[in-house]
Amino acid sequence: MKRLLSTISSEVFPFDRIEEFAGNGESLEVEMDGLATARTRSGRRIWERFAEFLPVAIDGEISLGEVDTPLLPAGKSLCDYAGIGRLLLKNETLSPTWSFKDRGSLTSIAMARQMGESVTATISTGNMGNSIAAYAARAGIRAVVFVPRYAPLEKIRAMAIHGATVVRVTAPDYSVMKREVLGLAAGLGLRVVSGNGPIRAEGYKLAAFEMYEQLEGKVPDFIAVPTSACGHIRGIFKGYRELLAAGLTDRLPRMVVVQAANVNPVVSAIREGRDRIVPVTGKETVAEAITSVDPPGGDEIVLKARQFGWLAEDVTEGEILEAQRRLGLEGYFVEPAAATSLAAVSKLRAAGKIGGEDLVILMLTGSGLKDMGVFARRRVEIIESDLRNIRGEMEKILATSHRKR
Ligand SMILES: *Cc1c(COP(=O)(O)O)cnc(C)c1O
Repeated sequence: MKRLLSTISSEVFPFDRIEEFAGNGESLEVEMDGLATARTRSGRRIWERFAEFLPVAIDGEISLGEVDTPLLPAGKSLCDYAGIGRLLLKNETLSPTWSFKDRGSLTSIAMARQMGESVTATISTGNMGNSIAAYAARAGIRAVVFVPRYAPLEKIRAMAIHGATVVRVTAPDYSVMKREVLGLAAGLGLRVVSGNGPIRAEGYKLAAFEMYEQLEGKVPDFIAVPTSACGHIRGIFKGYRELLAAGLTDRLPRMVVVQAANVNPVVSAIREGRDRIVPVTGKETVAEAITSVDPPGGDEIVLKARQFGWLAEDVTEGEILEAQRRLGLEGYFVEPAAATSLAAVSKLRAAGKIGGEDLVILMLTGSGLKDMGVFARRRVEIIESDLRNIRGEMEKILATSHRKR
């Protein structure tokens, strides 16, 4: 048996309830019986191996070949920068549409198909819409995506490439746009999936299961997650709660809630010891993928942080760009939102909240190639040459090639 539970007041709803949130605005999560005896199976895909932990069957036909994304130790320069010796990078940019959103799209599109839906709609600053567009295309479902003006063109065009109907909306800010679109859609009977629905969170659990396998059952001390709608962080944590419930692990990791200082409704509530988030107004950040100024479901994260001893940190625009630069110099080109986790754990280490011996995982949530607009704010050096000057340039390069960085 399975059901939906509201995540603060534990109100019970039937599993096939269509809405993304409880009537009182709380986020919902799936509760399944039998987890204590759930076991892994053999299979090539993570959703095959952990099928007993998932509330919806994944039909291989809608798969875009999700891979187990790499979990690798950071190199020396990043470890030195963060002051953390055991720093691991979970590279979600290797997902089919280059962000972790694909894990949630896999389960939510599987669910949409099971319910016989012919249209699926979402509101997105980019990655969510891009991912839904691709998975809907694969499953033969029409995707409609509402995007704000500032969504990067790379992401918007990718949605259109997959045949999605893309509506770019001019509005004072993202939350106003969301409210208007959601209100109209409800009236017209168009279901809009959010970044924090219960079925998406089920997909995000897969990252926890994968890391469990990759670390051979070892649970990290901290997992840092750039947070916006709050679906990703709670999904990963739910995965670890279920591993514990099944007796496969003996403890839980502590999550690190990471936001941009300019858009930090969840982090500021945790820091100030409030129960409820207060919407942020009138600010933007270069990390456009984490710009939910008033995430429904944010209060759950605040409560969980207190209950489970999570950490929270926000990072400035300059710190974000510096972290993106440092990751690039180690071979990872991530978008600004993804780089926030590196900047945040460095600050938490410096403040003594993370220990130098702790095992820390950074979720690299999305690819840098999907947001080239950031280079209006960040200069990269390119040498201009023509065929006459190129010999001189080569000589200069060779003369300085003993120097590193
Ligand atoms: C969506 C997204 C996030 C935030 O995840 P939420 O589930 O909305 O909290 C972080 N980074 C990137 C690159 C994203 O696309």
